Amino acid sequence: MDASLARGWMQNIASAMSRNQEYLTTLDAAIGDGDHGANMARGFGAVRARLHDGGQPAASVGEIFVATGSTLVSVVGGASGPLFGSAFQALGKAIDRDAEIDTPQFAVALGAALQKLQQLGAAVPGDKTMIDAYAPAFRAFHDAAHSGADFGTAAHAAAEAAEAGMRATIPMQARKGRASYLGLRSIGHQDPGATSTAYVFRALAEETGAV
Ligand code: ADP
Ligand code: MG
Repeated sequence: MDASLARGWMQNIASAMSRNQEYLTTLDAAIGDGDHGANMARGFGAVRARLHDGGQPAASVGEIFVATGSTLVSVVGGASGPLFGSAFQALGKAIDRDAEIDTPQFAVALGAALQKLQQLGAAVPGDKTMIDAYAPAFRAFHDAAHSGADFGTAAHAAAEAAEAGMRATIPMQARKGRASYLGLRSIGHQDPGATSTAYVFRALAEETGAV
């Protein structure tokens, strides 16, 4: 991964969030407060503005992700802003100033971001959160990287795993976040944060051309 791929990824995420804003809102209206679409569209819209529209140019891959994370933390309220924001900050901090990051190095950085997410949100797989998409995506990327796959192949595997994880949230009962207030009534609905997380990994696969 180089800085151009990192910027393109953020750009793709912003497009996906804006394209799917209404759908994310519908999902969150069913088991939350209906703001997830607006949160993601506003947050990644601000990221796009910062990275592309004359904002300070973030030179390295790590800096791009740290800038993304701090923008999300400051622009997005709710649970998802600090969670996504801190995850991107952790991803950026795990990447040193090398011009290019190879596939195993990126797997390590994704693992650092997952650790941050879990530390902050205290959710485990099965709680019906973004972790249910993120954890399998990380695992798939990591396993692909360590069996010698190239970046695009690993990103594609991560996107597929994130989407499977997203769908697997439907029968789960929420144990974290707003949806947990619904108890058993949270069953039968797809988690909005797991859905936006799947968009994040699909956007990466698309940017590498491995769709
Ligand atoms: P809010 O719940 O504050 O309205 P959003 O609607 O933007 O924030 O985000 C909701 C999503 O955040 C949920 O669908 C879930 O995936 C995620 N989430 C909520 N709490 C947690 C947590 N403790 N750990 C991980 N993810 C969480
Ligand atoms: Mg919400």
